Amino acid sequence: MNFHILTLFPEMVMNGLNTSIIGRAVNAGLLSIEAVNIRDYAFNKHQSVDDYPYGGGAGMLMQAEPVYLAWEAVEGKIQSRRSLSAESDAALTEQTETPDQSGMLDQPGAPDQSEAAMRPGTSGKRTRVVYLSPQGDVFNQKMAEEFAQEEDLILLCGHYEGIDERVLEEVVTDYVSIGDYVLTGGELPAMVMVDAISRLVPGVLHNDVSAEFESFQDNLLEYPQYSRPEEWHGKKVPPVLLSGHHANIEKWRREQSILRTRERRPDLLEKCELTDKEKKWLEGLAIQEEI
Ligand code: SAM
Repeated sequence: MNFHILTLFPEMVMNGLNTSIIGRAVNAGLLSIEAVNIRDYAFNKHQSVDDYPYGGGAGMLMQAEPVYLAWEAVEGKIQSRRSLSAESDAALTEQTETPDQSGMLDQPGAPDQSEAAMRPGTSGKRTRVVYLSPQGDVFNQKMAEEFAQEEDLILLCGHYEGIDERVLEEVVTDYVSIGDYVLTGGELPAMVMVDAISRLVPGVLHNDVSAEFESFQDNLLEYPQYSRPEEWHGKKVPPVLLSGHHANIEKWRREQSILRTRERRPDLLEKCELTDKEKKWLEGLAIQEEI
């Protein structure tokens, strides 16, 4: 997956994303992250990218033109790469097709060649552009899963008081917030998104299973985890985890997930699909707690 981050502070983004799991995934070619300096597209004498807001008010606003030109350059590059790869795919198909196989394409039910051209990433489809903004939809795991399906993602970071509305109307497809508070810039939110999305890209986590059984899967928080030693500060690892009995361990973990979600995020538990047996068990617990 390829991330393209439009920012006034490229070094901040790159320094934050070049270590640990994400850094290794970039080195392994599973991800690419480029930070594009919007200031490079400020074609005025002072290379300024901000100006006073019309109508007055505090602070400065990022101007439309440098943001637009930076987006145009990145989107142009993505589209050329896609058409090049579509062309080489087509050339390969032509070379490998025998006359019999090409005949099959005309049979009813055979895939229409034009469908291939419409596949995301092959041509024409505009890349999604996320504007990080406190006014956007609040980012969550489900959104991370959805964005992880994209081949390219453009993340636009605002600064100062934000960005001229007109360019947002022209280029932005998604408005995303990382929470109901205001930060000085979109760089940290962009890094949060890149991190959460990247770990869902196949191969980025060494053990893909670890992304499967985590908090927010099925609207449950993860169960408590323990590592060596078996006893620490007088606290023992729950015996079931040492039993080697996989079914019992799974049952215990599921129960702990449910209990933890009920205690810490009851809003999530309401959306969780529990079995009838689990619902009865929870009802029983609630009655016991009332006594
Ligand atoms: N004046 C803007 C408003 O009230 O909506 C806030 C601008 S904020 C000081 C500067 C930039 O930080 C924004 O353009 C946005 O890119 C980023 N930002 C701030 N808080 C954010 C949040 N909670 N989520 C995502 N981006 C945020």
